[in-house]
Amino acid sequence: MSTGFDVWDLEKSIADAIVKLGWEKPTEIQTEAIPIARRGTDVVGQAKTGSGKTAAFGIPIIEKCESSGIPQAIILCPTRELAVQVAEEISILQGNKGLAIQTVYGGTNLEKQAASLAKGADIIVGTPGRVIDMTKRGHLNLKQVTYFCLDEADRMLDMGFFPDILWVFENMPNRQQTLLFSATFPQEIIDAAEEFMSEAVHVMSDDMEVDIPEIELNAIRIGRANKLWVLGRIIANMDDNGQMLVFSNTKRMVDVLVERLSKFRMKAVGLHGDIPQNKRERILNNFREGKDKILIATDVAARGIDVDGITIVVNYDLPVDTESFVHRIGRTGRMGRSGEAWSFVSKEDRGSLEKIASTWNLTIPYVEVPALPEGMDRDPIRKRDDWDEVSDSFGMVRVNLSIGKADSTKRALSDWIVSQAKIQEIVLGEITQDEKSSQVEIHVQKVAYVMDVIKARDYNGRKLKPVIVNA
Ligand code: AMP
Repeated sequence: MSTGFDVWDLEKSIADAIVKLGWEKPTEIQTEAIPIARRGTDVVGQAKTGSGKTAAFGIPIIEKCESSGIPQAIILCPTRELAVQVAEEISILQGNKGLAIQTVYGGTNLEKQAASLAKGADIIVGTPGRVIDMTKRGHLNLKQVTYFCLDEADRMLDMGFFPDILWVFENMPNRQQTLLFSATFPQEIIDAAEEFMSEAVHVMSDDMEVDIPEIELNAIRIGRANKLWVLGRIIANMDDNGQMLVFSNTKRMVDVLVERLSKFRMKAVGLHGDIPQNKRERILNNFREGKDKILIATDVAARGIDVDGITIVVNYDLPVDTESFVHRIGRTGRMGRSGEAWSFVSKEDRGSLEKIASTWNLTIPYVEVPALPEGMDRDPIRKRDDWDEVSDSFGMVRVNLSIGKADSTKRALSDWIVSQAKIQEIVLGEITQDEKSSQVEIHVQKVAYVMDVIKARDYNGRKLKPVIVNA
């Protein structure tokens, strides 16, 4: 069978492996990076997870290495999960070439790792800390390493790995070629590229725009108190064969969400850095196999997760930096599949969403909370009152009353509310009126109570029907 990879006349074991994988043609980053990397030139590639970048650096590296048991190539990744994934993909891509590919990452037993390294390794895939540790302990020899690859370089530098990467780099006296892949290009990456590379060829779009998957982006205005209600709706609407990745900014929130959802009989699993490594791998495997449908994770834990079945990404919290947004939504719509991303935006978050949208030139429309699917008449999670969302920066909530200046003065109205509710005058703010209605500002701490009182009483023989006016 011929594939779009044939033009390169790749080593037979790799070509066969590609046929076996069923890949029909190289992805864009592969088309651009593979020929340059095969020539031995340094490459700086703009590529995010899901673009096929692993093969873009993996194929040239596999071709250049020989089965000698001495490390010739080292690939550094920001997380253990990504290292495992990269190592797995490279093992598959090498077909029957017989290279020993070893992962070296923290959180696992040192002696065991040392023992497997002692058996010989041709390609090392690891996280910087453990690679340094193993080198210093004499279990890993970097002296013969010729090919150096940095995967997700922006994430790595984001996590403060720069001195570690520099250390590894400086301990490879025979390095001949460096490949650096990054989804985004903040200044640190440009500096790193200069530090580590010589006459690198950049493969990226001219304007450095990130390749955003073609997925549906939605935002929902919702306060903290009701995010869970909205999540319940999105879960209720998920296809039977869909999978969801929910991002939260803290480990604690990951746990809380898993627990709260289980109370409402929705099974979700959590993934964050405090969960032991072996358990994290099990969780990821179950998710990958589709045994679990909903995974709740922090950014760090989710980095590089490569699960093709993810159809929905939810930003339960908006990410703190704009780059993470792109990483998060890149988890769905992989390899051209359809997907959707929902962002929950509280009042304080509105500026952040705007910044994300303008940084990446995205349109993220505010939409209504999805309706309950047909046949379901009750919300899986109940909506709660969320006064904070409707109050202004002075803590005032605007309430509309069905009485206008034709029937009451502002003064009479405010006196009546103060006396009926037995509140201090300061609880009320400004009142505005037209012929048929009045809008009264009421302090957030008292608004629920004051509205109840107004509902229960008559004002000159009529009901005032208080309704919140959205901020
Ligand atoms: P990556 O960006 O390396 O994480 O790759 C994303 C996914 O695309 C992985 O599941 C790869 O196995 C797959 N993939 C990579 N290259 C190709 C290709 N040329 N054709 C089809 N699938 C691919």
